Amino acid sequence: MKGKLIIFSAPSGAGKTTIVNRLLASHNDKLAFSISASTREPRLGEVDGRDYYFIGKEDFLHKIANQEFIEFEEVYSGTFYGTLKSEVDRIWASGKSVIFDIDVVGGQRLKSKFPEEALSIFVNPPSLEVLKERLIGRGTDSEEKLKERFAKAEIELKEADKFDVIINNIDLEEACQEAEQIVLDFLNKCKK
Ligand code: 5GP
Repeated sequence: MKGKLIIFSAPSGAGKTTIVNRLLASHNDKLAFSISASTREPRLGEVDGRDYYFIGKEDFLHKIANQEFIEFEEVYSGTFYGTLKSEVDRIWASGKSVIFDIDVVGGQRLKSKFPEEALSIFVNPPSLEVLKERLIGRGTDSEEKLKERFAKAEIELKEADKFDVIINNIDLEEACQEAEQIVLDFLNKCKK
């Protein structure tokens, strides 16, 4: 059974996780989060099986060989992230649409795999400077990792117009409301 896919992509720190969490809190009757597998270490407060399936690199490579992923990527050097087919099937089987918080390359890849069923949304941060401040403020990454995230963000910002919709996250409250409207419109349109 194929359901719908709502893809949120953005550079790390643009606010997409907050927007996604808000949507899930208000619409858990129709939306469920696609929990990705990742080889990175959990951050403080993150829970295995809720935020990510935190797995070792060997396990991840084994799953690649077994073709268990719809898409996967080495998002940062040595750190893999991927969407498991079983995760999407589980959510569709429950009659809900799947919502993704995924990097820009992964988002485009998913959209091209499901052109009709997917809505791809790019979350634009107010500026690269604000994005950098947010990432530094998080205090979760080493200086080297931060540099890698900044460099990736600069590349990703240039990809915005390849998405179905762009949400400018200048004011978080407004961005959340806009996202809700766009997603509900898409789901309603699909019903017709
Ligand atoms: P973080 O380490 O900040 O949780 O995530 C880093 C980046 O990886 C974010 O842009 C996040 O959206 C992305 N990401 C999370 N899960 C996946 C996935 O399954 N596939 C891909 N391609 N990217 C992912």
